[in-house]
Amino acid sequence: MNIILLGPPGAGKGTQAKILVDGRNMIQLSTGDMLREARTSGTEMGDKVAAIMDAGELVTDEIVIGLIEEKLEGDNAGGFIFDGFPRTLGQADALGELLERHGQTLDHVIAMEVNDEALVHRIVNRAEEAAAAGEPVRADDNEESLKVRLVEYYKKTSPLIGYYHAKGQLRWVPGLGEIDEVAAGIAAVLDG
Ligand code: AMP
Repeated sequence: MNIILLGPPGAGKGTQAKILVDGRNMIQLSTGDMLREARTSGTEMGDKVAAIMDAGELVTDEIVIGLIEEKLEGDNAGGFIFDGFPRTLGQADALGELLERHGQTLDHVIAMEVNDEALVHRIVNRAEEAAAAGEPVRADDNEESLKVRLVEYYKKTSPLIGYYHAKGQLRWVPGLGEIDEVAAGIAAVLDG
């Protein structure tokens, strides 16, 4: 089973993806994680995307589609969780084509329902907790970049809600509860 976790920054996509990895042997494909890894590896692509990411803007479709394509080659165990991808209609079309080429289907698009105020709190908390624990704070977890990330989400990513709704693949899950409540909502979709 292959699924997309769809939602604005701070909706909890990464947290829920990890629960699915542990509980269902699924494979998390987070383009954000892949891009952060590319940055630390000092590749040309990593250098190119660093400033864009820190500003909160989206990197090009070409780059993220390339990253995802590489990962579809291997064994997919309990299925893929696309986390933070696709983020544009172009990426969504590309994903459909890639899956088809690999003989795979897209089973559910799980849209996590949250509100903007909660997102700002969560991201500010994430930054404060990381700092208190002596962990690295994401360069884009600050209020200025967050505003850009939210605008990018509404301009470029939120149209995917209509896109997947029209394809009959969209499932809404309340994203504001406790982590295990949200996980139960997702499980109900996957097992339903
Ligand atoms: P995330 O960890 O998903 O919040 O992603 C962090 C940053 O990486 C985003 O703000 C973008 O700059 C970049 N990024 C991650 N995934 C994508 C994507 N699918 N398309 C474009 N940019 C992305």
